[in-house]
Amino acid sequence: MSGPWGICEECNQENTGYEWCNACNAKHFQQNFKNWTSGNDDIDKCIQKTQLSANYSCEVLEWIPYNKFYDLNRIAKGGYSIVYREKCIDGFICNWDNKNQNWPYEKKSSNFCTIFVQVRVEIVQLLQIFG
Ligand SMILES: [Zn+2]
Repeated sequence: MSGPWGICEECNQENTGYEWCNACNAKHFQQNFKNWTSGNDDIDKCIQKTQLSANYSCEVLEWIPYNKFYDLNRIAKGGYSIVYREKCIDGFICNWDNKNQNWPYEKKSSNFCTIFVQVRVEIVQLLQIFG
């Protein structure tokens, strides 16, 4: 018997979310840590923590360099944050591609993912203000 999300093709354990295996994806993310940095240790650790603990794709934060964004629109401002709706050239990662052994970038915008994109943009903005 398998759980609601089926069995992971890599480790044959139950997936923790839709096409998502927490243990295997944490490993894939960890191998990729050396390939990116926000330039700030605290932010790196925060993002890495979400990548290691995520049980499904939308729990993941991902660092995207500022120059990957285009079409920035400021849609709200309040408190300590400014919210931008933006588009990202590469889209963003969703599910590990076991066949090609990489994180394919998907250009889609479910509500969940948009929220996280906005959080990422805010971090970029804060870095620009305080960095
Ligand atoms: Zn697995």
